[in-house]
Amino acid sequence: MHEQEIPPQGISASLGSGLNFIDGEWIPAATGELREIKCPADQQLVGIVSESSEIDARAAISSAVRNWPSWAKTSPAERSALLNRVADKLEERRAEIALAEALDTGKRHVEAEYDVDDVVKCFRYFADLAGTSTGRVVETDMSHIDSQVVYEPVGVCVLITPWNYPLLQAAWKVAPALAAGCSFVLKPSELTPHTSIILMQILETVELPSGVGNLLLGSGSDVGNALTSDPRVDMVSFTGGLETGKKVMASAAGTVKKVALELGGKNPNVVFADCDYEAALDNALTAIFLHSGQVCSAGSRLIIEKSIKDKFVTELVERAKNIRMGGPFDPEAQTGALISQSHLDKVAAYVNMGVAEGAVIRCGGSVIEDIDLRNGFFFPPTILDNCDAGMQCVQDESFGPVLTVETFDSEQEAIEIANNTIYGLAGAVWTQDAGRAQRVAHSLRHGTIWINDFHPYLPQAEWGGFKQSGVGRELGPTGFHEYLETKHIYRNTEPAPSQWF
Ligand code: NAP
Repeated sequence: MHEQEIPPQGISASLGSGLNFIDGEWIPAATGELREIKCPADQQLVGIVSESSEIDARAAISSAVRNWPSWAKTSPAERSALLNRVADKLEERRAEIALAEALDTGKRHVEAEYDVDDVVKCFRYFADLAGTSTGRVVETDMSHIDSQVVYEPVGVCVLITPWNYPLLQAAWKVAPALAAGCSFVLKPSELTPHTSIILMQILETVELPSGVGNLLLGSGSDVGNALTSDPRVDMVSFTGGLETGKKVMASAAGTVKKVALELGGKNPNVVFADCDYEAALDNALTAIFLHSGQVCSAGSRLIIEKSIKDKFVTELVERAKNIRMGGPFDPEAQTGALISQSHLDKVAAYVNMGVAEGAVIRCGGSVIEDIDLRNGFFFPPTILDNCDAGMQCVQDESFGPVLTVETFDSEQEAIEIANNTIYGLAGAVWTQDAGRAQRVAHSLRHGTIWINDFHPYLPQAEWGGFKQSGVGRELGPTGFHEYLETKHIYRNTEPAPSQWF
């Protein structure tokens, strides 16, 4: 499908590295083990990279520990300049990065290009923020007391990222960590390592001091616990699924580390009868089927006013049937493959579960026979009608191109249905009634609410989840402060005995 795009020896060979980056050196895993990376769209070999063990995890943490104190002492201006240089280099290598991301993930190449643009914006945003947390002087009514609150870097951070937006998720962590003066070990998903390798190459090129940023390639189940339980690590920032997030939190609890978790979502897309119909219909498709539903904020629950449901869902089904799947470089393709066979099996099982619970398949539902797609993990856009919040298929995150449809009669009922989930990442409301839009937006217990839109985010605005969608926030000033500790310095200018004892 795209032999001409893959360099002869694979991406890692063309980069000159499929290795860990520890203490400023590109080194193989201690065991010498390797992993083949294959494109999910056709299973062509994309590259061969190191497969780390706990030995490598400990070495990467040692490097981050050793090299943190001098980095913490650099000025915010120095760190800001470095982040801007990273952004410049990312722009220079945009084509190469988008190629690697598309091949690793199977997503459309054009989407991978947009991802790189978002990554650049993220580095520039945190470059601007680096010098902004100056602390504050605390007013007191005691003339002999100087009180100030200052912010300091948290220290050594472990950054663990998923496979759906590999470089973007890494950027959301690496950029604020460096801006704050933290050192880090980055552990990308075992399935999608190449753009993290490129990011480390760029950090080396812009002369981030050796050992401040470390890259550990390999399987989360092999190295995860070593990273998250190590007492020398001050903070774990994790993006991934709920069950892994619980393991990370439990493992980090042993040494009471700071933990930031960005987890899954089961995101309501609430459509009222008074919406801008065409916009709501079109965006309901994008909400769930963009990147084949492999988006944490995917609008996987359509919650629609009963009076327009039949017409809306019928038209949605017709459009969903026409979505064209294909490989990253297929100019006709509108969406790509799922990440792996095991993920495809999970999505198919989820659909079967829905049917067993009484849902009706309106389109998709099982793998289609298509000679062009036979080697990839393609699952068609699927709409499950006649659902309700009591069904497991409505409650569990499939993380695939599967939309469930629920209906409501009143505004209050819509809010109750949309909040009936253990998750709380994102949601949308479609209505032309401005008052209703505000009421619903403020009543939904989700971290991002779109009014008459779906999916856009801003690096300047916080991102994260209520309830079991996570702990803490990424992006925005709060995302920066995750990587800072707060310290109160209280100075007595007229020390005297306390005379208590
Ligand atoms: P995952 O299986 O939980 O994996 C996420 C990361 O954790 C990967 O690097 C994984 O490594 C690693 N890992 C696995 N076991 C670990 C352990 N015991 N300790 C420490 N790390 C471990 O999630 P995924 O399938 O990659 O990603 C999909 C999930 O991410 C979805 O639920 C999605 O909603 C969520 N997500 C959330 C956001 C957000 O902003 N809230 C953004 C993107 C994705 P391996 O890959 O090597 O196993």
